Amino acid sequence: MSQEEIRSKVVILGSGPAGLTAAIYASRAQLEPLVIEGPQPGGQLTITTDVENYPGFAEGIMGPALMEQFRGQAERFGSKIIQTWIDKIDFSERPFTLYGKASEDSDEITHLIKADTLIISTGASAKWLGIPGEEPVPDGLGGNGVSACATCDGFFFRDVPVAVIGGGDTAMEEAQFLTRFASKVTLIHRRDEFRASKIMQERTLANEKIEVLWNTEVKEILGSQKDGVTGITIYNNETEETSDYPVKGVFVAIGHKPNTELFEGVLEMDDVGYIKTEGHSTKTNVEGVFASGDAQDSYYRQAVTAAGTGCMAAIDAERFLAENENEVQELRTATNW
Ligand code: NDP
Repeated sequence: MSQEEIRSKVVILGSGPAGLTAAIYASRAQLEPLVIEGPQPGGQLTITTDVENYPGFAEGIMGPALMEQFRGQAERFGSKIIQTWIDKIDFSERPFTLYGKASEDSDEITHLIKADTLIISTGASAKWLGIPGEEPVPDGLGGNGVSACATCDGFFFRDVPVAVIGGGDTAMEEAQFLTRFASKVTLIHRRDEFRASKIMQERTLANEKIEVLWNTEVKEILGSQKDGVTGITIYNNETEETSDYPVKGVFVAIGHKPNTELFEGVLEMDDVGYIKTEGHSTKTNVEGVFASGDAQDSYYRQAVTAAGTGCMAAIDAERFLAENENEVQELRTATNW
C-alpha cells in the first residue's frame, strides 16, 4: 500500500467537542487544519443519548447528532478530516512527524503527517467494570440505564432508585448529585472504606437518600432493551452471598483515564496522565503543542468546557504560528514543503 504524505500548519488529534471546535476556529483563521479521528470518531458524546445541557439546544439533542453538527461546521470552513491510527509522533523537531496506520494491529504506516503545530484533543475514557449488561446498546444496557456521567444522564432518573459504583470522589459526587432526582441512591463499594476525601465522605454519609453497601461487588446488570435496567446482581465479598438488587439506573464511577499514552515521556502530565498546560493557556511543555478537552482537564470534563478549551487551543496555535512565521517558513523551505 502506498504511503500518503500530508502537511499541515495545524494538526488536531481527536474529533470530540474539543478537537472539532479547535478545527472550526483554525479553519476560520485560514489555517486549513487537519483533524485526525481516532478509534471513537466524535468522542464520548457519540455513546450518549439525549444531551440536554449543551447550550443552544433548548429541546436537547442526541449526542451523535450534536457531533454531526460540530463536524459539518468544521468541514464547512475547510477542515480536512481523516481517519488513521497514530502510532508514533516525533516531537524532537518541528515540523512534528506523525506516523499513522490503518488500525492499531496493523504494522504498515499508511500516513506520514508533518505538523507545524499540534493540538491534542484525544479525550478521556470512563473506566468500566467489564461485567455483563454494561456494554453499549444494542449489545448491553450502556446508554439505556447504564451511564458513567450523572451530570449528563441523572435527569432521566426521576423518582426511581439508582446505584452508583465506586468509592472515590467521583462516586461521592455522582451519588450526591443523583439524590436531586432519584428516589434512593445506593452507593456500592468493593471495600469497607472509601478512597474519597474526608469531606466528600462525610457529606455522602450524612445524606439520608444515600445507602452504602460495603464490601460489595456488582457482577451483572439486569434488564432488557425494552425495559432498560431492572436490577443488578451483587456479591458481598465478606459474607460471600450473591443476590439481586432492584434499581432502574446504574452509574459506574470508578475513574476516568485520559487517552494520553502516546505522549508519555514527552509531554508533562499529572500522576493520572492528564496533560499539564501552562497557566490559563493550552500550551504544553513542548513549544507548538497544545492540549485541550478531557486529555487536559480532570476537573470539569463537560462537552461545553472541552469545546471552550478547543477554541483556546486554536487561538494559541494561531498566535504561535504568527509569532514564529519566519522560522516556520524557513523550515518549510529547508524541508521542501
Ligand atoms: P479514583 O481512582 O480516586 O477512585 C476510583 C474508585 O473506584 C475507587 O474507590 C476504587 O476502589 C473504585 N474502583 C476502581 N476500579 C474498580 C473496579 N474494577 N470495581 C469496583 N470498584 C473499582 O477515581 P475518581 O474518579 O473518583 O477520582 C479521580 C481523581 O479526581 C481523584 O484525584 C479525585 O480526588 C479527583 N476528583 C475530585 C473531585 C472534587 O474534588 N470535587 C470530584 C471528582 C474527582 P478502591 O478504593 O478499592 O481502589
